Amino acid sequence: MRAAVYDAPGLPLRIAEVPDPRPGPGQAVIRVSACGVCGSDLHATTAGADLARRGAVLGHEVTGEIVEIGPEPVGDWTVGDRVYAIPLGSCGRCPHCLLDRPEECPNQITFGALGPDEPDGAYAEYLTVSLSDLLPVPDGVGMEVAALCEPLATGLVCVRQASLDIGDRVLILGAGPIGLAATIWARFFGARRVAVSERVEHRRELAMRLGATDTIDASSGTDVAAQFAELTGAEPDAVIEAVGRPGMLNAAIAAVRPQGTVVTGGVCMEPDSFDHLLAYYKEPVIRTARVYTKAENQFILEMIAAGRIDPAPMISHRIGLDALPDAFEALRTPTDQCKVMVLP
Ligand SMILES: [Zn+2]
Ligand SMILES: [Zn+2]
Repeated sequence: MRAAVYDAPGLPLRIAEVPDPRPGPGQAVIRVSACGVCGSDLHATTAGADLARRGAVLGHEVTGEIVEIGPEPVGDWTVGDRVYAIPLGSCGRCPHCLLDRPEECPNQITFGALGPDEPDGAYAEYLTVSLSDLLPVPDGVGMEVAALCEPLATGLVCVRQASLDIGDRVLILGAGPIGLAATIWARFFGARRVAVSERVEHRRELAMRLGATDTIDASSGTDVAAQFAELTGAEPDAVIEAVGRPGMLNAAIAAVRPQGTVVTGGVCMEPDSFDHLLAYYKEPVIRTARVYTKAENQFILEMIAAGRIDPAPMISHRIGLDALPDAFEALRTPTDQCKVMVLP
C-alpha cells in the first residue's frame, strides 16, 4: 500500500510503497477514508522534540471501512462497516477490553507512531486496529466529520477536567483544533460566557461560528485577563490552555479567578516555569487533560448525528496522500489552516 513515511526530524514525509497491514487476533484492517493532521504529529517530528518513531507512519484521527477481520474477533463487526477508530489502541483481549472499556486496558499502545514503541498510524491507504477500539460511524455522518471525533474528544476532556458549574465564565487560550473543540463543549455544557483568545483573525471568526460568545485578539501586548474581565464583568472561573507554549500555563494562572480551574490542554514540549507566588495566592486547581473514554467518543458521534454539535467548519483543507508531505511542512508555520483532512 502507499503511505506517508516519517524518516527523521527536518525531513519532509515521504510517500512510499510499504507492506500491506494484516490483522492479528482481535484486529481488523480498515481502508482509510479520512485522517486529520494533528498538531501533536508536528510537535513530535520537530528537531527539538524528535519523539516520533523513525521509518513509521503517523496519523491517529481516522475513519475508514473494514476490509478484513482477523482471528478471534470481538464484537459484531462485518467487512464494509464504516468505523471511527479510537487511537488509544487497546489489546482487545484483556478483561477491560472484553467489557468494552478499552481506555482501562493495561496493554494500551496508541497508534500513530508518536513514541518509539507505537504502531503505525493512518497517513496511509490501510490501517490495522483493534476491534475493541472501533465505533460505528452513524448513518448520515460523513467520514471526514466523524474523523474530527478525536480532537473533539480531547476538547471534551479539557471541559470535563474544568468541572464547570452552571453559569461559569470560561476563557480558552488558543483557537487551534483543541481550543475550538473545547469552545464547542464549554458552550454545550452551559457556560455563561466562552471567550477565546487567539492571534489569528480567521481563527477568532471560526471560534465565534463554533460557539464562542466573545473573542480576544491575543496579538502581542494584549492583556488577555483584563480584556476578559472587561468583556464579561468578572474573572474566568476556568481557563483552558490550548496553545502549548512556554509561558501559557503562567498566563492561565494569571487570568483565572482565585480558586478557579486551569486545564492544560495544549501540550508544551519543553519544561515550563510558572510564578509560584502568584499560584500560592490564587490557589488554582491545575489539571491536565489526556485520556478520553470510549463512552465519550460514542457520545460525540451521537451528538454529531443528532445535529446538536456541528464541528464541520473546523475542516479547512482536504488533500490526497500525495499532497500530505508539503501540507504537513506548511502547517509548521500555520496561516489559514485549521484541520487539514487527508483523504488517501
Ligand atoms: Zn490528534
Ligand atoms: Zn486490553
